[in-house]
Amino acid sequence: MTGLDSTSRPVALTSSGVDRAAQHRLDEVWLAAAWSHPSTRVFVVSGGQVLVEETPDGTTELVMTPAFDAPETETHRYFLGIDPDGVRYFALQKDTLPGRMDEAARPAGLREVGGLLSPLEAGLMVHAVALENWQRMHRFCSRCGERTVIAAAGHIRRCPACGAEHYPRTDPAVIMLVTDEEDRALLGRQVLWPEGRFSTLAGFVEPGESIEAAVRREVAEEVGVTVGEVEYMASQPWPFPSSLMLGFTARATTSEITVDGEEIHEARWFSRDDLRTAFESGEVLPPFGISIAARLIEQWYGKPLPRPGTGR
Ligand SMILES: [Zn+2]
Repeated sequence: MTGLDSTSRPVALTSSGVDRAAQHRLDEVWLAAAWSHPSTRVFVVSGGQVLVEETPDGTTELVMTPAFDAPETETHRYFLGIDPDGVRYFALQKDTLPGRMDEAARPAGLREVGGLLSPLEAGLMVHAVALENWQRMHRFCSRCGERTVIAAAGHIRRCPACGAEHYPRTDPAVIMLVTDEEDRALLGRQVLWPEGRFSTLAGFVEPGESIEAAVRREVAEEVGVTVGEVEYMASQPWPFPSSLMLGFTARATTSEITVDGEEIHEARWFSRDDLRTAFESGEVLPPFGISIAARLIEQWYGKPLPRPGTGR
């Protein structure tokens, strides 16, 4: 079967259920009406953070208000889409988050709350954070150097001098669970990671390269292992600042490991028993919560990954 097991939860950040309704982005009359509609919901995004609050039943929610309560900055208004109930969503990009509306609200980033928010709210947040990252880093025209202006409700930047239109940038990256003939999984520890933190290998696709070739090249560069068959599994937006993670499984045709020492400090082959023992003893730390890496490892493992000390 291709793809991650659809009977389990979806990959985090991938299933908002919101219609982006791109046909409305250039329609100022429609956008103005949508903005002022009483059912419309708005949240502020600033530096990759939003305000969230915990409800009495323990769930985490995005703090959203009707537009008339939202701090107005027209030029930094992103239209994000329409949900199945017809509610329209906007994000406002601000230099700072607004003061706390009540004691429960607090600032939070996507890595922290991407897995806590509802899929709809996580999807809205990832869209807004990705747009904000792009806007912040592309204020000037790459053709002529003039300052550009926002258009299309946050989805285009236009150059008033040369007329160029600039679109949001997404950088494809491959992330792969490599297995060998014995169905052991190859996990590595990046140079900057703490002792014991192992995960799948990953790397950026280079210009003029297919994603399958990128998988083989990255594995060869990082750990010296040759990969044959490559199978696409699923993708995940990863706006830190602008990546799209393309998840694969890959079959190794060699098993000797030679780490590059620059990106990967240490790499090992794990059987399922090895991994369970290592997780339970705390020798190996589980991968980060919302990353597709955890799902790729879990798919191979066959069930939810054990946590330290659970003895599951
Ligand atoms: Zn220009």
